[in-house]
Amino acid sequence: MSETERIDCEKITHFQFDQAADAMGLDSEIRDLLKTPFREVQVKIPIKMDDGRLKVFVGYRVQHNNARGPMKGGIRYHPEIDPGEVRSLAALMTWKTAVVNIPFGGAKGGVACDPKGLSSDELERMTRTFVSMLDTIIGPYQDIPAPDVNTNAQVMAWIMDEYSRRHGYSPGVVTGKPIDLGGSKGREEATGRGCVFILQEAARDTNLDLGKARVAIQGIGNVGSHTARFVSELGARVVAISDSRGGIYDPDGLPMDRVLTYKAERRNLIGFPNARPITNEALLELDCDILIPSALGGVIHKFNADRIRAKVIAEAANSPTTTTADEILEKKGVVVIPDILANAGGVTVSYFEWTQNLQQRSWEEEEVNRELRKIMVRSYQQVASVARESKATLRVASYIVAIDKVARATRLRGI
Ligand code: NAD
Repeated sequence: MSETERIDCEKITHFQFDQAADAMGLDSEIRDLLKTPFREVQVKIPIKMDDGRLKVFVGYRVQHNNARGPMKGGIRYHPEIDPGEVRSLAALMTWKTAVVNIPFGGAKGGVACDPKGLSSDELERMTRTFVSMLDTIIGPYQDIPAPDVNTNAQVMAWIMDEYSRRHGYSPGVVTGKPIDLGGSKGREEATGRGCVFILQEAARDTNLDLGKARVAIQGIGNVGSHTARFVSELGARVVAISDSRGGIYDPDGLPMDRVLTYKAERRNLIGFPNARPITNEALLELDCDILIPSALGGVIHKFNADRIRAKVIAEAANSPTTTTADEILEKKGVVVIPDILANAGGVTVSYFEWTQNLQQRSWEEEEVNRELRKIMVRSYQQVASVARESKATLRVASYIVAIDKVARATRLRGI
């Protein structure tokens, strides 16, 4: 059994915030104001199951901060969802939207359930009842949910429909919708595409030739699969990739097109020809240039950080690195591109989707990708310049950029 470190996501987010707040000399009053969530809601969701039984689910929405705009953040369906984790993910959204300078605050939510054990009808009833419970606190100018782990465009369509039944046609209440209902072209690929735009910038700064880089990716869901495709289109070799059941490895590089087709057809990677099986733990410790965790939080911890051999880690997942691991990696000279920057492409295109909904027009995909690149490049450069000036890591620099914007907005609006 592998060693594990007890992961307290909320503690990690507070520690990261405090590191930057210390570097900025932020006073304690504004610190408390920025760390404390605006509103937390827990709701009971009673559902009639297909077999007639009644089952009660528990749903959460944490709205962290709205100083810079309506709150924004995903909804995840997961059996192990806990309020502390949702609180931490909501805060991350506040810093993420600020670091890329889009006019949103931060929120996050979810329902404790195992969606794989629910029929489509049960999932729809659960989603609609959850929305009816949040009805008065979400909305295009209040709080705008989006997909996250185990939720998708169909779930967003139910959210949009349920909210619109009560408030009139309101596509701007949710992003990540199907394109037929006002979703944005390029939204599905946006987190992976944005992560690769950031990697292109970071590669230049770290003298890494992305065209020859060896890349290991944990996770082949929405984020991992698109990141793998885009990075291999630039010539990089994806040497390993995994899902929850394990991964595959080829030091000469995996044929990503064939891997993605195989995964789509069989729903796992087991038995992929001409590649060796590899565990998720071993994948993280592979000899490679770039490691991209794209699955769960807390996977790089104090027991494995010392064994990481990548030169650059791009945190496509939220909170994949614990604070102790962060210190170990910094001492080893590993460049960590933090989640609030590396995976901000998704919320950036969600912002484009929201603006398209409010203006009732639709952008071409080239426009979406061009504007996404502009925002990701500009954000990376701003963070890298703050990191150089303050001799800080990219994580601390990202928080400095973000906290500064939220603190200024808060003071200007009046505390
Ligand atoms: P997803 O559900 O589409 O994919 C998750 C992937 O993780 C799957 O390949 C799954 O097999 C794998 N996985 C699950 N359990 C695992 C385990 N124990 N070990 C290894 N792999 C495991 O989710 P996603 O949307 O791709 O999100 C992945 C991460 O990226 C999450 O941390 C999410 O919060 C973050 N994120 C997602 C977006 C987005 O736009 N979807 C945006 C920003 C951040």
